[in-house]
Amino acid sequence: MDVRDRYAGEASRLDCSGCLIIPGNVCAHHHLYSSLARGMPYHLEPPQNFLQILQRIWWRLDRALDASTVRWSAWVGGLESLLAGTTTIVDHHASPNAIEGSLDEVAAALGDLGARSILCYEVSDRDGPERATAGIEENRRFLEDSSFGLARGMVGAHASFTLSEETLSACVDLARSKNAGIHIHVAEDAADERDAEARFRTRVVTRLAAAEALGGRALLAHCIHLDDAELEVVRDSGAMAVHNPRSNMNNRVGHAPVGSFDRLALGTDGIGSDMFAESKAAYWRARESDPSIGPGWVLERLAASAHFAGSVLGEPLLGSIESGAAADLVVLEYDPPAPLTEENLAGHWVFGISSRHVRDVIVAGRPVVRDREPTQAEREPMLKESREVAQQLWTRMEEIDPHPFEPAGGS
Ligand SMILES: [Zn+2]
Repeated sequence: MDVRDRYAGEASRLDCSGCLIIPGNVCAHHHLYSSLARGMPYHLEPPQNFLQILQRIWWRLDRALDASTVRWSAWVGGLESLLAGTTTIVDHHASPNAIEGSLDEVAAALGDLGARSILCYEVSDRDGPERATAGIEENRRFLEDSSFGLARGMVGAHASFTLSEETLSACVDLARSKNAGIHIHVAEDAADERDAEARFRTRVVTRLAAAEALGGRALLAHCIHLDDAELEVVRDSGAMAVHNPRSNMNNRVGHAPVGSFDRLALGTDGIGSDMFAESKAAYWRARESDPSIGPGWVLERLAASAHFAGSVLGEPLLGSIESGAAADLVVLEYDPPAPLTEENLAGHWVFGISSRHVRDVIVAGRPVVRDREPTQAEREPMLKESREVAQQLWTRMEEIDPHPFEPAGGS
């Protein structure tokens, strides 16, 4: 296979004899800012529900982030993505005490590694109106910035239950003015629905539809607690729902009605970016509820993720290997113990292939992983430093109290 490095203008040759070559995986919902939380100590009362997980863990971590730790988090997460064969990351970022310029930090870290990304800042009223406004401005600033070749923007919004009507409306106005989509958490927990009913006498999706936040460019993470009417609105809108099975099990928020969507992508919600592992978890959890689901279902989810990302990135053939498609390729050193054909790839995917088979990764024609090592970074010294940075972040976080924000309607 000839690999043309668009950046260096040099052609190189990669011996892929006996290997399986697939399009790069896409993670359709990520939180790279959580990358340094792995193994983090926890000294408070154990959280009993989803809201307490946010109040006691993630809304303390995000407030401890500064520009440097935002960049380190993105770099560490981006490195793991590429090594796992994930070439495009759709991220949802929050750092309430370092908002301005934060998306540049994420884009620069991923750009250094050679990964593609679709970035947004998570607008929310939970930290007050000034930060809500700053979040909107950060999305605007990034959407107007064209200096990051492999990164594009969306308008990020946290979730209905932390958004006022004014803030939601400002997000929609920005998205409309920039021809961008809204990336938002939808009914991840029943508390989101209870809040919408208590504050607006309506359901989350109905509220978002009335605000004109839906449509074909919208990305709706989770969509677990939707009723039949909401599911119909999501289908009719053309919005893409994103299923995050490992996170949903970890947070005990329930299983999304995965068979009820016309458009359903797959994300990790921050639990790394190994889409082989996520797709296996998606398959097994779906099978537990519905035995009619087959292995091909997960490949369809990954194709949907790539199709959505491709539409934002201006690469309509992303996720395919054909003339004119983006040269985002993963070389798998997979020696199948049984016949492997086009027809039974999904079976091998679910029961055999994993990120340990990833040998080389190419993004936009540029080799970014070769022989399981990043080509654009020195892994060992960087990870040594990231462990020190993570320790400092954990120490700062110890000083931050649980977040006081409470939704209407109870947690
Ligand atoms: Zn999320």
